[in-house]
Amino acid sequence: MRVHVFAAGLAMAVCSSMFGQSTHSNPWAPTELGPLPAISSLSDGVWLKGDLHVHSRHSKESSNNSIAKIISYSQSVGMDYVCITDHDNHVLGDTEHNTWSDPEFKSDSLLLLYGAEWTTTRGHGNVFSAKPYDHQRLYDVRDQRDVVVGAVKKELGIHLSANHPSGKDHFGYSYDMVDSIEVWNSANWPKNVNAIMIWDDMLSSGRKLTGRGGSDAHHGFPETPDQATKNSPQAKYNYIGTPTTWVFAPARTKQALVDTLTGGRVSVSANPYAPRVEFYADLDQDGKMDMMMGDNAKSTGNPVKFRVQLTGNTVAGATYTVNVVKDGNKFGTFQATGGKTTMVEFTDTPKTLVRSYYRVTVEGPSTAYPQVPESATLTGNMVGLSNPIYFNFNPNF
Ligand SMILES: [Zn+2]
Ligand SMILES: [Zn+2]
Repeated sequence: MRVHVFAAGLAMAVCSSMFGQSTHSNPWAPTELGPLPAISSLSDGVWLKGDLHVHSRHSKESSNNSIAKIISYSQSVGMDYVCITDHDNHVLGDTEHNTWSDPEFKSDSLLLLYGAEWTTTRGHGNVFSAKPYDHQRLYDVRDQRDVVVGAVKKELGIHLSANHPSGKDHFGYSYDMVDSIEVWNSANWPKNVNAIMIWDDMLSSGRKLTGRGGSDAHHGFPETPDQATKNSPQAKYNYIGTPTTWVFAPARTKQALVDTLTGGRVSVSANPYAPRVEFYADLDQDGKMDMMMGDNAKSTGNPVKFRVQLTGNTVAGATYTVNVVKDGNKFGTFQATGGKTTMVEFTDTPKTLVRSYYRVTVEGPSTAYPQVPESATLTGNMVGLSNPIYFNFNPNF
């Protein structure tokens, strides 16, 4: 009897929707957007550059890459921060293989984040934290459902990032619980094409997700001939800074750095000496930029002026090609000439109410990185990429 009633109800529901008379309303359909967080000043901040995915000798497949070497090398190429992300090393109860307890894990000038590469059968993710956290707890839930993992992540107050999302050991968990995604892994830029596609898909589906880089360097430099034979001379083409992630933080502190990584005022450059990509928008066209990459504003229906700027070592007179992506599709290509000011501007009217984003990649002459001499060949003409400028992204999503 019960089965009969249920079947009848189901049939009725199908009929009414077939004739367009369904009374169903979608509670998740976009309605009026609530208030968005205020956009902070564009002038109060400091650009910090570094690498967010580096393995030291504490990772078992690594070689010749002590923490002291990572720190001194990072400083020698002008880095402001580094996150050494060994494979869950410090949860194994093996102090020999513990990154954070290594006496070399200290620096007066370099911001050393606390992190690890969460290495699971469902893929890899990096943790970034301003202070030590209980990684064992995250490790213990690695085979649980996302709802459990997400709750533990939230409780720990950590930044979780999806690693090499289209490669081997790709991040196999929900993107609802990550704060960033590794869209540029290693000097080998062309292999990141699918990572970029996944990023665009996630952005288009409403996830405000910071794109970041990470060299994933495993081997120290210089390598001895023996190690070069045994491990492949990786450090010649991939080492700290290939690529380099730039963060516009409100202060030179670890917490400001992690918070800004989540917020998205971030761009990625081919190496520590390559120009930095900056992406701004002037909402009311008064000539003063109001927002930058990572920021999220309500669209007003009026045109917005966008500015892409390259800061640093551009080649005078050279052509830089700026590719603009809007909502996952090609929007346009613009050319900038290298010089004292290297920039392009374009105007568009973002959609109202519905979510929309713009992001850019910049191609042009490669910048030499003499310490990692073969990296430029692998990276090709990719100079850098920005994070998106967002419109109408619901912060509660
Ligand atoms: Zn990995
Ligand atoms: Zn790794």
